[in-house]
Formats: sequence, structure tokens, C-alpha cells
Amino acid sequence: MRHAMQHDLDTLLRTIAADVQPLLGEGGVAEYIPALARVPRAQFGIAVATVGGECVGAGECDTRFSIQSLSKLFALTLALQREGDALWRRVAREPSGTPFNSLVLLERERGIPRNPFVNAGALVVTDVLCSRYLQPGRAVLEFVHRLLGETGVAIDTEVAQSERAHSDRNAAIAHFMRGFDNLHGDVAEVLDAYCAQCAIAMSCRELARAALFLAADGRQPRVGEVLAPLAARRINALMLTCGAYDAAGDFAFRIGLPTKTGVGGGVLAIVPGKLCVCAWAPGLDANGNSIAAAAAIERFAAATGSSIFAAPPGGH
Ligand code: GLU
Repeated sequence: MRHAMQHDLDTLLRTIAADVQPLLGEGGVAEYIPALARVPRAQFGIAVATVGGECVGAGECDTRFSIQSLSKLFALTLALQREGDALWRRVAREPSGTPFNSLVLLERERGIPRNPFVNAGALVVTDVLCSRYLQPGRAVLEFVHRLLGETGVAIDTEVAQSERAHSDRNAAIAHFMRGFDNLHGDVAEVLDAYCAQCAIAMSCRELARAALFLAADGRQPRVGEVLAPLAARRINALMLTCGAYDAAGDFAFRIGLPTKTGVGGGVLAIVPGKLCVCAWAPGLDANGNSIAAAAAIERFAAATGSSIFAAPPGGH
């Protein structure tokens, strides 16, 4: 039974990898830092990790790439572990309708970011980590190590340095929120930790395995409870409504799963109770979402009938 499922998944992932090949020439890679601007576009990987312990991949599923905004998932989880619901006094839960690094709403909303996945929200989350950890720049990385039960994943130091050298906009956001007393630590330290977490490099296979607790009501296989079930469900809700920059509505419409994207080209989606799927291709659309990876996840959700809006078999 187990082998049959693995075989089916294997075939499906290979078919998807072949189907999306024509899309790999589309879009542009992230260009805001030189270290990302030279990543070759013609790459694609996909991997699925199931709550039952299977992990299947196709294409370049073991190639590590810059996880960028996908790190916001792990940072948020850590901050919720430490801070609990008090975090939600400092970060709201609405889609922003503005680009991820926008300052526009912060003035009107008095320094309270719309959600933890826009940069302003992620910087508040990082501020929490800075107040809780002696080495905040390694907190997210070490959390990922614990989730995976191994320590091979690392920060790409060239990307991290490049992020720091180009962090004027994030610095502006951080100072602005400090002006509203919604950032308590030292801005330079918060930026440093934020740039380090964005520069973590992981493969599709590693990401799918690390995020499994989000598919299992907060319990990470072989690790135990990472978050209470309600907190894990809420992260899924935020992924569905705010996880794909300005295209979160379109992703919910096309895919029907909680999803988080990053400008390194990664797209991670959760099938609650079942699995976590991660696809990667560097070519991005105008919103900063990977074109081929999003198409791959869309095909996966359709082929497996796993939209969260589908009625369960026999349930009607
Ligand atoms: N390091 C990027 C920034 O803060 C993250 C971009 C992303 O993946 O959303 O601008």
C-alpha cells in the first residue's frame, strides 16, 4: 500500500516536472541583489513530504535555493512559540493589497503591519526573536535544523551580505515602526537577523519536510508538538489569505491550498492532514511569485483533488 502510493506520487511529480518545462523560460529572476540576479532560470524541482513519513521528489528537488520569504513561516512559528497570542497585538491578519515591501499602509495604520508575511510584519516577528534569543541571526536556522533532525542546512553568506547591503527599504520600514513603538530592539540587529533568515538555502525536499507540522495540526513527525493545533491552523489561514504577496487571492482561486511563496522562486503548499508540497523555479511573475512552481502546485492540487474547498469523499 505504502509502495503503491509512493509509486503514484513519483509518477505524478515526474509528469508535472515534464509538463512545466516550457514555462521555465518565462519571467525574470529576482534582481534586487546581485547574488540572486545570476541564478540560472532553467531549473525546476518539486517534492512532497507526507505526514505518514514518505518523501518523494522530481527534477532538481535536492538543489538548495534561497528560501527568502518562506523563512517568514518558520520565524512566525518560533515567535508564536515564545510570545503566544500576544504577538497579534502587534501584527494584524489582513491581506495588504500592496507590495510586500510597501510603507504606504503603515502610516495610516500607526505602525501595525497588515500581516506577518509582508516585510513590516516579518520585521516585527524578527524583533520578537531578537528579544528572546542571544543569537537571533541563527534562531530560524537552528529551528529548521530541529525540524529536520539534521544540521546540513546553512545560511548562504553571500546572499546574506548582499541583502544587508541593499536593505534601505527594510531599514526604513523598521525605523518607521520603531517611531510608532512597534519595534523595540535595535534596528540594525533586527535587520541583520532578518537578512540572515531570508538567506537560508534549502531544497524542495528539505522545505517540504521542515514544514510538515503545518499539515499535521502543529505536530512535527519525530519531533513532537511545535505549535498548538489552533496556532498551526491560523498560520494556514494566513498562508491562504496573505501567503503569495499581492496574488494571494489568485493563488486561492487557482490552487485552493494554504501557500507561501518567496522571491528565490520557492512555493510551498499545505494539504492539511496529509502532506506538504514544495516546488521551485527561479523565473518570477510581476508579483514576485515563481511562474513554473505555481503552475506545478496548481497541477498537483488538481490531480490529487486536494483543494481545501473540495468536499471529502463520501462526505455528502
Ligand atoms: N529578502 C527579501 C526582502 O526582504 C525577501 C523578499 C521575499 O521573498 O519576499 O526584500
